[in-house]
Amino acid sequence: MTRVVSQQPFPNGTRKPRATSQSPSLGVRRRGAGRMKRRGQGTGRLAATSARAAIAPRSANTPMTSSRCPGQADRNTRQRQHRECLEQAARALLTSDGWQRWVRVRSTNGLGRYSLSNQLLIALQRPDATYVAGFRAFLGLNRCVRKGEKAIRILAPISIARSRTHAADDAEEVHITFRGVSVFDVKQTDPIPDREPVPLCPPSQPVSGDSHAYLLAPLEQLATGLGYHLRCVPLEEAADGWCDYERREIVVNERLPANGQVRVLVHELAHALGVGYHEYGRRRAEVLVDAVTYVVCGSVGLDVSGDSVPYVAGWGEDGSLDALREYAGTIDAIARRIESALQ
Ligand SMILES: [Zn+2]
Repeated sequence: MTRVVSQQPFPNGTRKPRATSQSPSLGVRRRGAGRMKRRGQGTGRLAATSARAAIAPRSANTPMTSSRCPGQADRNTRQRQHRECLEQAARALLTSDGWQRWVRVRSTNGLGRYSLSNQLLIALQRPDATYVAGFRAFLGLNRCVRKGEKAIRILAPISIARSRTHAADDAEEVHITFRGVSVFDVKQTDPIPDREPVPLCPPSQPVSGDSHAYLLAPLEQLATGLGYHLRCVPLEEAADGWCDYERREIVVNERLPANGQVRVLVHELAHALGVGYHEYGRRRAEVLVDAVTYVVCGSVGLDVSGDSVPYVAGWGEDGSLDALREYAGTIDAIARRIESALQ
Protein backbone atom coordinates (compact mmCIF):
# COMPACT_ATOMS: atom_id res chain seq x y z
CA MET A 1 0.00 0.00 0.00
CA THR A 2 1.33 3.42 -0.87
CA ARG A 3 0.28 6.53 0.92
CA VAL A 4 0.56 9.66 -1.17
CA VAL A 5 1.06 12.84 0.80
CA SER A 6 0.65 15.71 -1.55
CA GLN A 7 1.06 19.36 -0.85
CA GLN A 8 -1.70 21.55 -2.17
CA PRO A 9 -3.05 22.11 -4.78
CA PHE A 10 -3.40 18.39 -5.42
CA PRO A 11 -4.12 16.88 -2.04
CA ASN A 12 -4.10 13.21 -1.25
CA GLY A 13 -6.28 11.20 -3.57
CA THR A 14 -6.35 13.75 -6.35
CA ARG A 15 -5.38 12.98 -9.91
CA LYS A 16 -2.15 14.74 -10.58
CA PRO A 17 -0.81 16.13 -13.84
CA ARG A 18 1.14 13.42 -15.56
CA ALA A 19 4.27 15.15 -16.64
CA THR A 20 5.47 12.49 -19.01
CA SER A 21 2.29 11.99 -20.97
CA GLN A 22 0.68 15.37 -20.62
CA SER A 23 3.56 17.72 -21.13
CA PRO A 24 6.33 15.66 -22.58
CA SER A 25 8.76 18.50 -23.00
CA LEU A 26 8.62 19.97 -19.55
CA GLY A 27 11.61 18.09 -18.24
CA VAL A 28 9.74 17.33 -15.07
CA ARG A 29 11.30 14.59 -13.01
CA ARG A 30 9.27 12.20 -10.92
CA ARG A 31 10.78 9.78 -8.50
CA GLY A 32 8.89 6.74 -7.36
CA ALA A 33 5.93 7.55 -9.57
CA GLY A 34 5.32 3.87 -10.17
CA ARG A 35 4.57 3.43 -6.50
CA MET A 36 1.95 6.11 -6.40
CA LYS A 37 -1.56 5.00 -5.82
CA ARG A 38 -4.10 6.74 -8.01
CA ARG A 39 -7.48 6.77 -6.47
CA GLY A 40 -10.67 7.11 -8.44
CA GLN A 41 -9.43 5.06 -11.35
CA GLY A 42 -11.41 2.00 -12.28
CA THR A 43 -14.06 2.68 -9.68
CA GLY A 44 -17.76 3.09 -10.18
CA ARG A 45 -17.75 6.84 -9.97
CA LEU A 46 -14.35 6.95 -11.60
CA ALA A 47 -12.44 10.07 -10.67
CA ALA A 48 -15.45 12.28 -10.29
CA THR A 49 -14.31 13.63 -6.99
CA SER A 50 -10.82 14.45 -8.11
CA ALA A 51 -11.74 17.83 -9.52
CA ARG A 52 -13.33 18.89 -6.27
CA ALA A 53 -10.35 17.72 -4.28
CA ALA A 54 -7.93 19.36 -6.64
CA ILE A 55 -9.00 22.88 -6.02
CA ALA A 56 -8.92 24.73 -2.77
CA PRO A 57 -11.02 27.64 -1.49
CA ARG A 58 -11.23 30.79 -3.51
CA SER A 59 -9.04 33.78 -2.94
CA ALA A 60 -7.50 36.59 -4.95
CA ASN A 61 -6.28 36.18 -8.47
CA THR A 62 -2.52 35.77 -8.28
CA PRO A 63 -0.26 34.72 -11.12
CA MET A 64 1.67 31.49 -10.82
CA THR A 65 5.35 31.84 -10.20
CA SER A 66 8.19 29.43 -9.83
CA SER A 67 11.50 29.46 -8.06
CA ARG A 68 14.44 27.13 -8.39
CA CYS A 69 15.58 26.96 -4.77
CA PRO A 70 12.66 28.01 -2.62
CA GLY A 71 12.62 27.86 1.14
CA GLN A 72 9.59 26.48 2.93
CA ALA A 73 7.96 29.92 3.07
CA ASP A 74 8.47 30.38 -0.65
CA ARG A 75 7.09 26.93 -1.30
CA ASN A 76 4.02 27.64 0.77
CA THR A 77 3.48 30.93 -1.05
CA ARG A 78 3.89 29.25 -4.37
CA GLN A 79 1.48 26.45 -3.51
CA ARG A 80 -1.07 29.02 -2.32
CA GLN A 81 -0.74 30.86 -5.62
CA HIS A 82 -1.30 27.61 -7.49
CA ARG A 83 -4.47 26.97 -5.49
CA GLU A 84 -5.72 30.44 -6.27
CA CYS A 85 -5.13 30.00 -9.99
CA LEU A 86 -6.90 26.64 -9.97
CA GLU A 87 -9.80 28.10 -8.07
CA GLN A 88 -10.16 30.91 -10.53
CA ALA A 89 -10.02 28.45 -13.44
CA ALA A 90 -12.66 26.23 -11.83
CA ARG A 91 -15.01 29.10 -11.12
CA ALA A 92 -15.22 29.68 -14.86
CA LEU A 93 -17.33 26.51 -14.94
CA LEU A 94 -20.08 28.41 -13.14
CA THR A 95 -21.00 30.33 -16.28
CA SER A 96 -22.47 28.79 -19.39
CA ASP A 97 -19.66 30.34 -21.45
CA GLY A 98 -16.95 29.00 -19.15
CA TRP A 99 -18.48 25.53 -19.11
CA GLN A 100 -18.73 25.42 -22.89
CA ARG A 101 -15.19 26.76 -23.22
CA TRP A 102 -13.89 23.86 -21.10
CA VAL A 103 -15.92 21.22 -22.99
CA ARG A 104 -14.64 22.56 -26.32
CA VAL A 105 -11.04 22.66 -25.11
CA ARG A 106 -11.38 19.13 -23.71
CA SER A 107 -12.73 17.86 -27.03
CA THR A 108 -9.73 18.90 -29.07
CA ASN A 109 -7.24 16.27 -30.01
CA GLY A 110 -4.28 17.40 -28.00
CA LEU A 111 -5.87 18.30 -24.70
CA GLY A 112 -7.24 15.07 -23.28
CA ARG A 113 -3.63 14.36 -22.31
CA TYR A 114 -3.87 16.92 -19.52
CA SER A 115 -5.42 16.56 -16.10
CA LEU A 116 -8.78 18.19 -15.52
CA SER A 117 -7.17 20.95 -13.47
CA ASN A 118 -4.74 21.74 -16.24
CA GLN A 119 -7.55 21.62 -18.81
CA LEU A 120 -9.35 24.26 -16.76
CA LEU A 121 -6.21 26.40 -16.57
CA ILE A 122 -5.73 26.11 -20.33
CA ALA A 123 -9.40 26.87 -21.07
CA LEU A 124 -9.18 29.99 -18.93
CA GLN A 125 -5.96 31.32 -20.42
CA ARG A 126 -6.33 30.16 -24.02
CA PRO A 127 -9.95 29.26 -24.87
CA ASP A 128 -9.06 28.60 -28.52
CA ALA A 129 -6.31 26.10 -27.67
CA THR A 130 -6.26 22.93 -29.74
CA TYR A 131 -2.84 21.33 -29.27
CA VAL A 132 -0.78 22.33 -26.25
CA ALA A 133 2.78 21.30 -25.52
CA GLY A 134 6.03 22.61 -24.10
CA PHE A 135 8.68 24.51 -26.03
CA ARG A 136 10.94 21.50 -26.51
CA ALA A 137 8.07 19.20 -27.43
CA PHE A 138 7.17 21.52 -30.27
CA LEU A 139 10.78 21.43 -31.49
CA GLY A 140 10.42 17.65 -31.62
CA LEU A 141 7.31 18.15 -33.75
CA ASN A 142 9.35 20.38 -36.09
CA ARG A 143 7.61 23.52 -34.88
CA CYS A 144 9.06 26.48 -33.00
CA VAL A 145 7.26 28.79 -30.57
CA ARG A 146 7.27 32.33 -31.94
CA LYS A 147 9.35 34.88 -30.06
CA GLY A 148 7.31 36.99 -27.67
CA GLU A 149 4.41 34.54 -27.38
CA LYS A 150 2.81 34.53 -23.92
CA ALA A 151 3.02 31.13 -22.28
CA ILE A 152 0.08 29.22 -20.85
CA ARG A 153 0.86 28.35 -17.23
CA ILE A 154 -0.11 24.91 -15.99
CA LEU A 155 1.03 22.77 -13.07
CA ALA A 156 3.36 19.81 -13.07
CA PRO A 157 4.73 17.66 -10.26
CA ILE A 158 8.39 18.31 -9.55
CA SER A 159 9.32 15.98 -6.76
CA ILE A 160 8.12 12.90 -4.99
CA ALA A 161 10.12 12.05 -1.91
CA ARG A 162 9.52 9.06 0.29
CA SER A 163 9.69 10.24 3.87
CA ARG A 164 9.10 7.28 6.16
CA THR A 165 7.79 3.78 6.40
CA HIS A 166 5.01 2.73 8.72
CA ALA A 167 5.86 -0.62 10.20
CA ALA A 168 2.23 -1.24 11.11
CA ASP A 169 0.68 -1.15 7.67
CA ASP A 170 3.82 -1.28 5.58
CA ALA A 171 2.78 1.96 3.95
CA GLU A 172 5.18 4.46 2.54
CA GLU A 173 4.61 8.20 2.37
CA VAL A 174 5.32 10.11 -0.75
CA HIS A 175 5.51 13.89 -0.85
CA ILE A 176 4.52 15.68 -4.00
CA THR A 177 5.03 19.30 -4.86
CA PHE A 178 4.00 21.19 -7.95
CA ARG A 179 5.33 24.07 -9.91
CA GLY A 180 3.96 26.25 -12.63
CA VAL A 181 5.35 25.41 -16.05
CA SER A 182 4.99 27.06 -19.43
CA VAL A 183 3.27 25.48 -22.39
CA PHE A 184 2.04 26.91 -25.68
CA ASP A 185 -0.74 26.30 -28.14
CA VAL A 186 0.12 25.18 -31.65
CA LYS A 187 -1.20 28.49 -32.96
CA GLN A 188 1.70 30.17 -31.18
CA THR A 189 4.21 28.19 -33.23
CA ASP A 190 5.56 28.19 -36.77
CA PRO A 191 6.89 25.25 -38.77
CA ILE A 192 10.69 25.06 -38.71
CA PRO A 193 11.95 25.88 -42.22
CA ASP A 194 13.03 22.93 -44.35
CA ARG A 195 11.45 20.42 -41.98
CA GLU A 196 8.15 18.67 -42.40
CA PRO A 197 5.87 19.52 -39.44
CA VAL A 198 4.53 16.42 -37.73
CA PRO A 199 0.75 16.30 -38.17
CA LEU A 200 -0.86 16.92 -34.79
CA CYS A 201 -4.55 16.42 -35.41
CA PRO A 202 -6.20 14.44 -38.18
CA PRO A 203 -8.52 16.51 -40.35
CA SER A 204 -11.99 16.60 -38.86
CA GLN A 205 -14.47 14.26 -40.52
CA PRO A 206 -18.22 14.75 -40.76
CA VAL A 207 -20.52 12.62 -38.60
CA SER A 208 -22.45 11.79 -41.76
CA GLY A 209 -19.52 9.78 -43.19
CA ASP A 210 -17.92 6.38 -42.70
CA SER A 211 -14.34 7.51 -41.99
CA HIS A 212 -14.36 6.25 -38.39
CA ALA A 213 -15.92 2.82 -39.00
CA TYR A 214 -12.76 1.26 -37.56
CA LEU A 215 -13.77 2.57 -34.11
CA LEU A 216 -16.89 0.43 -33.97
CA ALA A 217 -14.95 -2.75 -33.13
CA PRO A 218 -13.04 -1.34 -30.11
CA LEU A 219 -16.23 0.32 -28.87
CA GLU A 220 -18.05 -3.00 -29.09
CA GLN A 221 -15.14 -4.57 -27.24
CA LEU A 222 -15.54 -2.01 -24.46
CA ALA A 223 -19.26 -2.75 -24.28
CA THR A 224 -18.52 -6.48 -24.04
CA GLY A 225 -15.97 -5.81 -21.31
CA LEU A 226 -18.66 -3.98 -19.36
CA GLY A 227 -20.95 -6.96 -19.69
CA TYR A 228 -23.16 -5.50 -22.42
CA HIS A 229 -24.27 -7.12 -25.63
CA LEU A 230 -24.27 -4.81 -28.65
CA ARG A 231 -27.14 -5.15 -31.08
CA CYS A 232 -27.27 -3.19 -34.35
CA VAL A 233 -30.79 -3.16 -35.74
CA PRO A 234 -32.72 -0.92 -38.13
CA LEU A 235 -34.68 1.51 -35.95
CA GLU A 236 -37.64 3.46 -37.15
CA GLU A 237 -38.29 5.31 -33.91
CA ALA A 238 -37.03 8.72 -32.97
CA ALA A 239 -34.21 7.26 -30.86
CA ASP A 240 -31.08 6.03 -32.60
CA GLY A 241 -30.12 3.77 -29.75
CA TRP A 242 -30.43 2.99 -26.08
CA CYS A 243 -28.71 1.33 -23.17
CA ASP A 244 -30.84 -1.30 -21.41
CA TYR A 245 -29.35 -1.82 -17.95
CA GLU A 246 -31.55 -4.78 -17.06
CA ARG A 247 -30.97 -6.73 -20.24
CA ARG A 248 -27.35 -5.56 -20.35
CA GLU A 249 -27.88 -4.58 -23.95
CA ILE A 250 -26.85 -1.58 -26.04
CA VAL A 251 -28.87 -1.05 -29.19
CA VAL A 252 -27.66 1.09 -32.10
CA ASN A 253 -29.53 2.05 -35.25
CA GLU A 254 -27.78 0.30 -38.13
CA ARG A 255 -29.37 2.69 -40.61
CA LEU A 256 -26.94 5.37 -39.45
CA PRO A 257 -23.64 5.89 -41.26
CA ALA A 258 -20.65 4.39 -39.43
CA ASN A 259 -19.63 7.73 -37.88
CA GLY A 260 -23.17 8.25 -36.63
CA GLN A 261 -23.11 4.77 -35.10
CA VAL A 262 -19.84 5.67 -33.37
CA ARG A 263 -21.50 8.73 -31.87
CA VAL A 264 -24.53 6.79 -30.65
CA LEU A 265 -22.35 4.01 -29.26
CA VAL A 266 -20.19 6.50 -27.33
CA HIS A 267 -23.36 8.03 -25.88
CA GLU A 268 -24.77 4.68 -24.77
CA LEU A 269 -21.40 3.54 -23.40
CA ALA A 270 -21.26 6.67 -21.25
CA HIS A 271 -24.62 5.57 -19.78
CA ALA A 272 -23.25 2.06 -19.30
CA LEU A 273 -20.20 3.51 -17.51
CA GLY A 274 -22.39 4.84 -14.75
CA VAL A 275 -24.34 7.90 -15.89
CA GLY A 276 -27.84 6.53 -15.55
CA TYR A 277 -31.21 8.18 -14.93
CA HIS A 278 -31.35 6.48 -11.57
CA GLU A 279 -28.14 8.11 -10.37
CA TYR A 280 -28.48 11.56 -11.92
CA GLY A 281 -32.05 12.00 -13.08
CA ARG A 282 -32.94 11.96 -16.77
CA ARG A 283 -32.14 15.55 -17.71
CA ARG A 284 -28.83 15.74 -15.88
CA ALA A 285 -27.74 12.30 -17.07
CA GLU A 286 -28.42 13.22 -20.69
CA VAL A 287 -26.42 16.47 -20.39
CA LEU A 288 -23.45 14.63 -18.86
CA VAL A 289 -23.61 11.87 -21.45
CA ASP A 290 -23.95 14.37 -24.31
CA ALA A 291 -20.89 16.21 -23.01
CA VAL A 292 -18.91 12.94 -22.91
CA THR A 293 -20.06 12.24 -26.48
CA TYR A 294 -19.03 15.72 -27.63
CA VAL A 295 -15.61 15.36 -26.00
CA VAL A 296 -14.86 11.85 -27.26
CA CYS A 297 -16.12 12.44 -30.81
CA GLY A 298 -14.10 15.66 -31.02
CA SER A 299 -10.99 14.01 -29.65
CA VAL A 300 -11.08 11.22 -32.24
CA GLY A 301 -11.51 13.67 -35.10
CA LEU A 302 -15.24 13.74 -35.74
CA ASP A 303 -16.54 17.19 -36.56
CA VAL A 304 -18.65 18.31 -33.61
CA SER A 305 -18.23 22.01 -34.27
CA GLY A 306 -21.85 22.28 -35.37
CA ASP A 307 -23.14 20.61 -32.20
CA SER A 308 -24.17 22.71 -29.26
CA VAL A 309 -22.29 22.06 -26.04
CA PRO A 310 -24.71 20.58 -23.53
CA TYR A 311 -25.30 22.63 -20.41
CA VAL A 312 -28.05 22.86 -17.85
CA ALA A 313 -29.02 26.48 -17.41
CA GLY A 314 -28.90 27.32 -13.75
CA TRP A 315 -26.28 24.74 -12.80
CA GLY A 316 -23.98 27.43 -11.58
CA GLU A 317 -26.43 30.00 -10.34
CA ASP A 318 -26.68 28.66 -6.84
CA GLY A 319 -22.95 28.73 -6.48
CA SER A 320 -22.66 24.95 -6.55
CA LEU A 321 -19.10 24.96 -7.75
CA ASP A 322 -18.40 21.66 -6.05
CA ALA A 323 -21.22 20.01 -8.01
CA LEU A 324 -20.00 21.44 -11.31
CA ARG A 325 -16.45 20.34 -10.62
CA GLU A 326 -17.76 16.88 -9.85
CA TYR A 327 -19.73 16.79 -13.12
CA ALA A 328 -16.67 17.97 -15.03
CA GLY A 329 -14.60 15.29 -13.30
CA THR A 330 -17.15 12.64 -14.21
CA ILE A 331 -17.24 13.75 -17.85
CA ASP A 332 -13.45 13.85 -18.05
CA ALA A 333 -13.01 10.44 -16.40
CA ILE A 334 -15.62 8.66 -18.53
CA ALA A 335 -14.29 10.29 -21.70
CA ARG A 336 -10.80 9.07 -20.76
CA ARG A 337 -12.10 5.55 -20.27
CA ILE A 338 -13.69 5.51 -23.73
CA GLU A 339 -10.76 7.30 -25.39
CA SER A 340 -8.32 4.79 -23.93
CA ALA A 341 -10.36 1.99 -25.52
CA LEU A 342 -9.95 3.71 -28.89
CA GLN A 343 -6.16 4.11 -28.79
ZN1 LIG B 1 -29.00 9.01 -23.40
